[in-house]
Amino acid sequence: MFSKILIANRGEIAVRIIRACKEMGVATVAVFSEADRDALHVSLADESVCIGPARVQDSYLNMPSILSAAVKTGAQAIHPGYGLLSENARFAELCEKCHIHFIGPDAKLISELGDKDAAKRTMREAGVPVVPGSEIVPDVEAAKKAAKEIGFPLLVKARAGGGGRGIRLVNTEAELEPAFLASSKEAEAAFGDGACYLEKYLDPVKHIEMQILCDNFDNVVCLGERECSIQRKHQKLLEESPACCITPEMRARMMDAAAKAAHAVHYRSLGTIEFLVDSDRNFYFMEMNTRLQVEHPVTEFVTGLDLVKWQIRAAAGIELPFHQEDIRLNGHAIECRINAEDPENHFMPSCGRISLLHIPGGPWVRFDTALYQDYSVPPYYDSLLGKLIVHAPTREEAVRKMKAALAELVIEGVTHTADLQMDILSDPDFLDGSYTTDFMEKRGAE
Ligand code: ADP
Ligand code: ADP
Ligand code: MG
Repeated sequence: MFSKILIANRGEIAVRIIRACKEMGVATVAVFSEADRDALHVSLADESVCIGPARVQDSYLNMPSILSAAVKTGAQAIHPGYGLLSENARFAELCEKCHIHFIGPDAKLISELGDKDAAKRTMREAGVPVVPGSEIVPDVEAAKKAAKEIGFPLLVKARAGGGGRGIRLVNTEAELEPAFLASSKEAEAAFGDGACYLEKYLDPVKHIEMQILCDNFDNVVCLGERECSIQRKHQKLLEESPACCITPEMRARMMDAAAKAAHAVHYRSLGTIEFLVDSDRNFYFMEMNTRLQVEHPVTEFVTGLDLVKWQIRAAAGIELPFHQEDIRLNGHAIECRINAEDPENHFMPSCGRISLLHIPGGPWVRFDTALYQDYSVPPYYDSLLGKLIVHAPTREEAVRKMKAALAELVIEGVTHTADLQMDILSDPDFLDGSYTTDFMEKRGAE
């Protein structure tokens, strides 16, 4: 096992990873930007290093600065968390060059699977059904030709996309050119790669993903699904497991497909395989995330496994001591993301000093956050304030538990989305489980 790990992230996920390390007896190094001097992850870690100014490009995405902090402190491994450098193949490669373990798959796997178009090809060849669509379309003319075959509506998607960026919906041929140029431009700015492909737009559709855990010995374990269809602008707001719409038979088929996908690429580490499920209950591979997922606690509740610890052990070359037949999925878990955004005002981001904080408790209630009383939420980063997660024997009880926990949660000083989550939990389409990815749009329209 590693003796010291550097956490190349901030916020709730940095705190989550530091806690796992402490419980495993591993020393921790936090890195922080000048705007994050007073952040919780800095005070919880054994050591901390300032890696640059507030802007992520200058700090949390500053590879030389992070690597030199690791070398200087003698960290043997780097945990990238999610977002930021977590799916950056170049960073994983630089870690290897510096003889530091990157906690995730190797650079080659990250780049093969991070290219969403190439990943779909690999999965198709492995016999996994994929969302119908085109190869990379180099220009508008090629896009028009491909669109004729796919039909409208369709999506333009950036092959390097992530976090909902680089995606545009196209309803008619006239919309294609501006959408293609906008996607390409957005992806070029965000990821340095403007290449795009087209995909048939499935509507109505559910986003259901499978959590997998693999080691360096070709062991693949699937930890069940998460239903993530409550989204806004292609970003998840609420997740639950199990998904209420899928039968045990369908779950078994999706788990098989996920395991097949993992074996096909000789996957190592923790990963998520995202599928779309249409109204005829056909499922299609959409993309794979080669990192810890924001919503991983949902799976931790239903499996009883600490995913961060197993991810770290896998990176340290420890073989998984359990197999698929040992996995039991128990009860029902729900996560609500609490974002510093104003739902009444176009989800405008909010920042400021936390003047009052009360975190709900009780059995099987978890709030993952980096907030504390008097902390000032800086304006530079992700709007996630915390994740409220509950677990209960049935979905009905989990919904009630979540409502009680949300009612108890107090975060004053910034505008946030807890009341919106409460409304979602009372919506008939949510309650009967029939909801699809257009849930928020439909609510908006009403
Ligand atoms: P998930 O399925 O885990 O939610 P996403 O693709 O939505 O995955 O991205 C993971 C998280 O990381 C999101 O909360 C997103 O806002 C955040 N994120 C992605 N890229 C960045 C970045 N460059 N800087 C800060 N946060 C980021
Ligand atoms: P990202 O890499 O940004 O996470 P994804 O490819 O996972 O992008 O897509 C994000 C979301 O967009 C999905 O969760 C889903 O709601 C929606 N989406 C993506 N592809 C399709 C599609 N072909 N048809 C309908 N909705 C889609
Ligand atoms: Mg995705």
